Amino acid sequence: MMKCVICKQGQTRQGTTTATFEKGEATIIIRLVPARICKNCGEAYVDSVTTKNLLETADYASKVGAQVEIRNFKAA
Ligand SMILES: [Zn+2]
Repeated sequence: MMKCVICKQGQTRQGTTTATFEKGEATIIIRLVPARICKNCGEAYVDSVTTKNLLETADYASKVGAQVEIRNFKAA
């Protein structure tokens, strides 16, 4: 079990979060991102592999040309 570094009280549990990126004029929202979530304050911790995947997805999604692009996270 990992302790939350923000509130220093909560334990984290496996869950999902929503990540938002702004690229130029586009806003990319990626849902259902696997993360560990603090039970106390709700802070989300995303591991480095997932972060890399997220950034690639955001980059790709920004090229669709929509102002707002909403996707569900897919593991690489
Ligand atoms: Zn916390």
